[in-house]
Amino acid sequence: MILPAQDIPIVRKSLDRLMNTYGPSLLDSDPLGMAHPYPRHEDREVIAFFAAALAFGKAKSVRASIRRVSEVLGDRPAESLRQFEFRGEAGPFAGIVHRWIGSEDLARFAHLIGAALRRYGSLETLFMEGFSPEAPTLQDALAQFHHRLIDLSPRGRRSKKAPKRDSFQYLLPNPAGASACKRLHLFLKWVVRPADGVDLGLWRAPRPDQLIIPVDTHIARISALLGLTDRRTPDRRMADEITASLRLLNPEDPVKYDFAITRLGILGHCPRKPVDHLCAGCPLQDACRHWRRIPKRKKRAAREMASAPPPVPHS
Ligand code: SF4
Repeated sequence: MILPAQDIPIVRKSLDRLMNTYGPSLLDSDPLGMAHPYPRHEDREVIAFFAAALAFGKAKSVRASIRRVSEVLGDRPAESLRQFEFRGEAGPFAGIVHRWIGSEDLARFAHLIGAALRRYGSLETLFMEGFSPEAPTLQDALAQFHHRLIDLSPRGRRSKKAPKRDSFQYLLPNPAGASACKRLHLFLKWVVRPADGVDLGLWRAPRPDQLIIPVDTHIARISALLGLTDRRTPDRRMADEITASLRLLNPEDPVKYDFAITRLGILGHCPRKPVDHLCAGCPLQDACRHWRRIPKRKKRAAREMASAPPPVPHS
């Protein structure tokens, strides 16, 4: 079920307040922050693609893995990738592991990006092969992008040292399936939304109104608290439902709230099990179903606790 019409004004106002609190100054808590320092568009694009692919697990370890990949690719990552070819082993990525993604997987992924740059010039040009301005979302274009990229996969067998699980496929999931494909939609959000201090605004033709929300555990949970979805499974149908609700709030740019909402979860300001004194200072409280259910007496106590000075440590 999407957001009921009577809740639109209060949810919009709360989310606008949230965006004023959680903005670009918090980029270091996000993998996207790793793409910003590069001055060239092509370098931002490829580092963003690598960063989105590795955006699973704890934020700190994600950023550490992206940093190591960036060090391998040097100051001109797009040029390094154009020159790179997978030769059946990890090569310069040897020793870099991100959770179950091994260094050989990273080398294969690097090959794929390099091959795309050699054939199409940029990831944007490759994406545009399947793009239609009439399409309501970028979902079909993304499926074609994935298909064309997979066609560029390096030939050759995996080395004996490579893990048995097909972790390489995990780096590039198929958007045609039932999964929410959070990391691919995250990448699209980064490159399609206009440069606003958070997103990069690198691609010209795809529009923000065609984006689908990248659903992770934080988006799924907080969207449910706001009534943006009543689905339980964080899959593609949930992503579509949350996006439909967000379109009611902002038809031109429905996913603009993504960064601020995920900060609440990533920074521990809205833990899985709500903590009343954290809720007392939360910009979303007027729209949040949890806070609305708390009795007035408990709300008062939570506000008092939130505004109390921190305890003096014992010397
Ligand atoms: S009011 Fe509490 S439960 Fe609701 S979104 Fe804010 S921190 Fe989370």
